[in-house]
Amino acid sequence: MIAPELLLTPPQAKTGDFYTIATLGSHSALQILKGARDEGFRTLAIANREAERLYRSYAFVDEVIAIDQYSDFMSLVPELETRKVIIVPHGSFVAYLSLEDHKQMRIPYFGNKAVLDWESSRELQRQWLTRAGLRIPRQFRTGAEIDRPVIVKLYGAQGGKGYMFVRDAHDFEQRAGKLARQNYILQEYIIGVPAYIHYFYSSLTGKLEIMSMDRRYETNVDSLGRIPAAAQEGMDVEPSYVVVGNAPLVLRESMLAHAYRMGEDVVRASQELCPPKGLFGAFCIETIITPDTQFYVMEISARIVAGTNPFIDGSPYSYLNYSEPMSTGRRIAREIKNALLSNNLPAVLDDSSRLR
Ligand code: ATP
Repeated sequence: MIAPELLLTPPQAKTGDFYTIATLGSHSALQILKGARDEGFRTLAIANREAERLYRSYAFVDEVIAIDQYSDFMSLVPELETRKVIIVPHGSFVAYLSLEDHKQMRIPYFGNKAVLDWESSRELQRQWLTRAGLRIPRQFRTGAEIDRPVIVKLYGAQGGKGYMFVRDAHDFEQRAGKLARQNYILQEYIIGVPAYIHYFYSSLTGKLEIMSMDRRYETNVDSLGRIPAAAQEGMDVEPSYVVVGNAPLVLRESMLAHAYRMGEDVVRASQELCPPKGLFGAFCIETIITPDTQFYVMEISARIVAGTNPFIDGSPYSYLNYSEPMSTGRRIAREIKNALLSNNLPAVLDDSSRLR
C-alpha cells in the first residue's frame, strides 16, 4: 500500500512512457485513451474499418490497428503479447469477446477477470448483490407467479432492447407467445427514477470514490409522460427501453451516503466471492429510486460504463477529489501509473497478465 495523499498529486515520473494503453475503438475508448495520454502513456486503438478514421483523427491516439470486425481481436493477441501493452476493457470489449477468449489472453489486463463470471450470469449477479445486502427487485419463475407489474428481460440484450412491460399474470399469458424460444427473466417492475452511479475502487489504497452519475435517455419510455394517459388509451403504445444517450445527474446530498455504502458493500462481497482481489477499478451500480427513497439495484457493471462519457472533463464528484479534470478513463490510467510508481503493477492487473 502507498499513502493515499501521495496519489493526489499527479506523478510527473516518466514511467508511463514505456507502456501503451490499448482498447477497442468503441464505447468509452476516447475517454480511456485521452485519459491514458494525459497520464503520460502511449495509446493504441483497435478499430474496425468504419471507426478507423475517427480514431486516427484524434491527436491523443498514437496508433490505430484496423481489423475487419471486433470479433477478430483474438487474431491480434499473439502480437500484442510481445509488446508492453496494457488492455483496458470496456462494455463493448467484454461483449465482443467470449469469456473463454478473455481467460485465454495473457496480455496485461486492467481489472479482475474472475469477476466476469459473477457479472455475466444474471443468477450469479443476484447472489452477489444479495450477499452485499442490497435491495433487488423480486424475480418470478413462471408467468403464473406474477402478482404485480413486471419487466421481461431477454438474456444477452444490450441497452434494454426487446424488454417488455407486463401489467399482470393475465397480460403475460396473452403476450408470452412473442417470447417463444427466447431466454428471459421476469423481474418486478420498480416504479421510480433510474440513477446509474459510477464508482472507482483502488486496490492500491483501499479507497472507494464516487466518480459521477448519469441517467439514461430511453426511447420511448422517457417520452410517454408527454402524452396524457387519457390520450394514450386505445393507442396501443408499449413502453420500450432502448438507450439513446446518457445525461449527467447529481444526487440529493442526503442520499449520497447510501450510494457510497452500496459501493463499499459490493466491493466487500466481491472480495469474499473472488478472493483476494475481488472487484477493483471502475464499476457502476444501476439503480431505481422509489418515492420513499429506497434504492433498488437492477444490475452491476464491473468496469467502465458508457454513462461516464458525459464526464470526459470530470464531474462535480470527481472535482471534489481532484483539482483537475478527472474522467473515469483518466482515473484508470492514474491507477496504472500509481501502481508502476510503487512497483506494484500486478495489484491492478488480472492474475493471468504476463508482464514484459
Ligand atoms: P446494459 O447491459 O446496457 O446495462 P441492459 O440491456 O442490461 O443494459 P438494463 O440496464 O437492465 O438493460 O435495463 C434497461 C432499462 O430498463 C433501465 O434503464 C430501466 O429503465 C428499465 N428497467 C430495467 N429493470 C427494471 C426494473 N426492475 N424496473 C423498472 N425498470 C427497469
